[in-house]
Amino acid sequence: MRPVTKIDQIETMILDIPTIRGHVLSMATMRTQTAVLVKVKFSDGSEGIGEGTTIGGLSYGAESPESIQSAIETYMAPALTGRDGNDVNGAIQLIDRLVKGNRIAKAAVEGALWDGLGKRVNVPLSQLFGGAVHDKLPVAWTLASGNSETDIAEALEMIEIRRHNIFKLKIGKRSVRDDVAHVARIKQAVGDAASVRVDINTAWSLQEARWGLKGLQEAGCELVEQPLPARYRKAMAELASGYEIAVMADEALNGPEDALEVAAAKAADVFAVKVAQSGGLKRASEVIAIGQAAGLGLYGGTMLETGLGTAAALQLFATVETLRWGTEFFGPLLLTDDILANPVVYRDFCVEIPRGPGIGATLDPDKTDFYRRDRGRTMKAVAGK
Ligand SMILES: [Mg+2]
Repeated sequence: MRPVTKIDQIETMILDIPTIRGHVLSMATMRTQTAVLVKVKFSDGSEGIGEGTTIGGLSYGAESPESIQSAIETYMAPALTGRDGNDVNGAIQLIDRLVKGNRIAKAAVEGALWDGLGKRVNVPLSQLFGGAVHDKLPVAWTLASGNSETDIAEALEMIEIRRHNIFKLKIGKRSVRDDVAHVARIKQAVGDAASVRVDINTAWSLQEARWGLKGLQEAGCELVEQPLPARYRKAMAELASGYEIAVMADEALNGPEDALEVAAAKAADVFAVKVAQSGGLKRASEVIAIGQAAGLGLYGGTMLETGLGTAAALQLFATVETLRWGTEFFGPLLLTDDILANPVVYRDFCVEIPRGPGIGATLDPDKTDFYRRDRGRTMKAVAGK
């Protein structure tokens, strides 16, 4: 009988990495992205790594980088230490009993467990989810400089260098009329060479959304993401049935239970499936299954993870037969530096599925040391330049 490979130790670190430009969202402007990394050490000497990242501190959702770290170190690590490292489902079920919510923290730990398992059996993580059916996926870019001319220049350059031809515009901070005009200018500039979509990040009222969706679809915008607050399912259903433009749920989807309710309420045409927001790769695969069963469109969503979390998501989405709306797995490209020794590859409007065992990501220890918050470096001064 093979000896059990136990979970020996779970470590976390917070990294602060500057973004290449201000990332203007309806609720926050990001100049630094903060990632929580998890390293699980197993009794046979193997290791697994995972990432739990959110957007804009506490302005996007209920978890912050600091709460993610504390939930893992104080509540999850002691419960998991000493357990069978190969029993990922057992770990998920135990943590679900012990810890409510805290989905991003759960996703980070679970990712590291899957990564360790994949490395020990020497298969990519996609294989543990039934096998990859894609070796690359379409990848959108977010235009969020806050300025139309800057965004147009950025979009045209991305098309020219064949990096992106799907653009998501972050709007909702200005008036609906100004936002629609901004989107129309960009759509006119890129024409049929690119798909233009918008993300409101819950900023509109139903009344604003009616004007917004009417204007957006007239401007040639194809999809509107989470125009209303996450709980407004009836109002989202009204928008989904009232307009031709596709309505996508993002903040409304926190795991499979939400996915079932949103699908049953017809409160979206498309699911933006995020590994972190779903509570991990396993729960994300369940959200995907519900969306598929309901006949909804699927889209791979990001919390602007570094290469590590991005690679983990790519492993799962590589197994999804039809991703009608592609992905937005561009997180590493928004950062001034890549923390992987083998960065994720972007080419020909696509992102490639990483090869190698587990998540397929190897950390660059010099980079992680450099960006660690507990090493006393203050990133805010650097990021504010
Ligand atoms: Mg979104």
